[in-house]
Amino acid sequence: MLVVMQQSAEEVQIQQVIDRLIEMGFNVHRSTGVLHTVLGGVGGRDDFDTGIIQVMDGVQEVHRIISPYKLASRSFRPGGTVIKIRDVEIGGNQIVVMAGPCSVENRDQIERSADIVADGGAKVIRGGAFKPRSSPYSFQGLGEEGLEMMRKAADRRGLLVVSEVMDQTQIQLLSQYSDILQVGARNMQNYNLLKELGKIRKPVLLKRGISATIEELLLSAEYIMAGGNYEVILCERGIRTYETYTRNTMDISAIPVVKKLSHLPMIGDPSHGIGRRDFVPALARASVAAGADGLIMEVHHDPDHALSDGAQSLYPNQFNELMQQLQLIAHAVGRTV
Ligand code: PEP
Ligand code: MN
Repeated sequence: MLVVMQQSAEEVQIQQVIDRLIEMGFNVHRSTGVLHTVLGGVGGRDDFDTGIIQVMDGVQEVHRIISPYKLASRSFRPGGTVIKIRDVEIGGNQIVVMAGPCSVENRDQIERSADIVADGGAKVIRGGAFKPRSSPYSFQGLGEEGLEMMRKAADRRGLLVVSEVMDQTQIQLLSQYSDILQVGARNMQNYNLLKELGKIRKPVLLKRGISATIEELLLSAEYIMAGGNYEVILCERGIRTYETYTRNTMDISAIPVVKKLSHLPMIGDPSHGIGRRDFVPALARASVAAGADGLIMEVHHDPDHALSDGAQSLYPNQFNELMQQLQLIAHAVGRTV
């Protein structure tokens, strides 16, 4: 249930509606906009008589939401969500680029990465310290040591950090070093992890699972938001289809669809999306043209010797060239990079 209050609604009237919704068994989430306050009621009975709220003072509109996600729905915040981390705004006019190696490998590598990323004009450095590898025999990441190295390199160049959290026992550690906690594709439906991430107050980058529908992605975001953490960034990173030529099939269409269905920022990951560096720039450009609020991409100073995902990691000069191209595409759609 969504209640849109009148522009002139007074605080006491808003409080009366909140109290009434709580009395009816709803959990109430409030969004205070510039013009309107919107109240999202979650958990009450679906057959609740909306007329009871409709006639209350200060109420403009009441909608019964049939979509299974409510807080993640565009109607909860029609103007869109902007997530502000220090001086970086995700979901605003500027397209935010997050870039870096797949994994943090050693101090020299992550320091060089920070230079490539910052010099190219990206705002956030990525790098996994806990790696979800398909094989238990592949490099699993450096753990806390890797996080410490990445934080240091990021601070030297004034970058934000995004890194993956693989289970709930790692949340506290990741929160210490990382500005954004990434939930990987393999964990998109790890509901215990999502619930715990709902309890913290740090932005979460939620990647789409390889076989997840758009609705399932939004329901996973709902899990985090239902706990009170509204700072969720969604990410298309390719899904598994019958095509075998590429690692995954980057579902570009998910970008405008999610932007329509949800108020949350939506970014594209062309690296995992296609899995080959020769095609990454085309999909990065396509993501921006399709309305993505940002990109997350893999870049490495020596991709041919990377410990993970070397084939899809851009060479530094490729990354720089792409960043130039993205400015033109962003301009064409009325945005900046
Ligand atoms: C990654 O970002 O390196 C990663 C493992 O991503 P995904 O979860 O999308 O496979
Ligand atoms: Mn990777």
